[in-house]
Amino acid sequence: GVIVDVDGNSLIDLGSGIAVTTVGNAHPLVVERVQRQVAELTHTCFMVTPYAGYVEVCEALNRLTPGDHAKKSALFNSGAEAVENAVKIARAYTKRQAVVVFDHGYHGRTNLTMALTAKNMPYKQSFGPFAPEVYRMPMSYPFRDGPHGGAEVAAWATTKMEKEIGGANIAAIIIEPIQGEGGFIVPAPGFLPSLKAYAAQHGIVFVADEIQTGFCRTGEWFACEHEGVIPDMITTAKGIAGGMPLAAVTGRAEIMDAVHAGGLGGTYGGNPVACAAALGSIEAMETEDLNARALAVGAIMRERLEALAAAHPSVGNIRGRGAMMAIELIKPGTMDPDPDLAGRVAKAAHAQGVVTLTCGTYGNVLRFLPPLSIPDDLLREGLDIVAAGFDA
Ligand code: PMP
Repeated sequence: GVIVDVDGNSLIDLGSGIAVTTVGNAHPLVVERVQRQVAELTHTCFMVTPYAGYVEVCEALNRLTPGDHAKKSALFNSGAEAVENAVKIARAYTKRQAVVVFDHGYHGRTNLTMALTAKNMPYKQSFGPFAPEVYRMPMSYPFRDGPHGGAEVAAWATTKMEKEIGGANIAAIIIEPIQGEGGFIVPAPGFLPSLKAYAAQHGIVFVADEIQTGFCRTGEWFACEHEGVIPDMITTAKGIAGGMPLAAVTGRAEIMDAVHAGGLGGTYGGNPVACAAALGSIEAMETEDLNARALAVGAIMRERLEALAAAHPSVGNIRGRGAMMAIELIKPGTMDPDPDLAGRVAKAAHAQGVVTLTCGTYGNVLRFLPPLSIPDDLLREGLDIVAAGFDA
């Protein structure tokens, strides 16, 4: 929970390196497995010489992801790479090309994932042309949608899909169950289930991008479980391996098997040391019940953030699930975003020893996603320092 800089300053970490160190940095179960693995072998390339750790991570993913259908997993190096492969697999399975994504969505910085990502600056500006056959649909954003419910906003999106693309041409619908970079946007209840129902009706692969929300961050293994949605495919990264680079695609076996042999891969995907770290992280999450811990961390954050909102009309909205909480800042009395205030508060907090992150399409969201290893008192201290930043 504490980062010490080169000058010896201690900083309370409320960002986990962008949702990565969920089990904390240097968790003993991760360190022990990584050290053992690194002393034994560091690389063979799984496509050349398979090893057990890769298979064990895939088995854990198949067991922990929602749904009791037959599943298969493939491992990659980064979140963006996992999303790209999810698109490749969905296209191979459906023999269709169109991919649907959502306003405010973020899926990475490679060429295809830039096309999937909504926000121009800083992610896309100057970097085009972008991949074709990507369609962006309205997202449920309760703070800004007014009274419209999840099913209603989903109907806008599915009508648009039907009219502008045609359900029979859509390979995949890709959505973050809670949008991360887009502003910790929790869609209204009913939005995700309605999209899933539309996908099922039209043979579209429903992909949950759980790269930021997955692995105990929200108080469930995966955020789509809060609404009982079972994705056909799920992308994971970040929290999966306690800081080592690892990502995965897990999907229905018949979908994953649609790709020809040799169609997916990469030199380093599922590196043995990264797999060892993942097995240690998953063991820590299970033995320490980090889903329960995420809910407890979330309750502390919500209480503190509600007090902050009561004192500061610039806090327009508090939202999130579990240990993934955010506040959206506005000019008081309006809905106008205040990114300048978000930046100033984050800077003030940093100067006083707290690492926070900003996000959001309008840059006006402060997000809090501490490592789940953070002690309660340190978390409260960190949030008090953020509150002091507002007072200042
Ligand atoms: N999808 C989501 C939902 C993400 O939050 C991120 C990273 N912020 C990515 C994809 C891309 O992951 P990476 O940075 O590991 O490529």
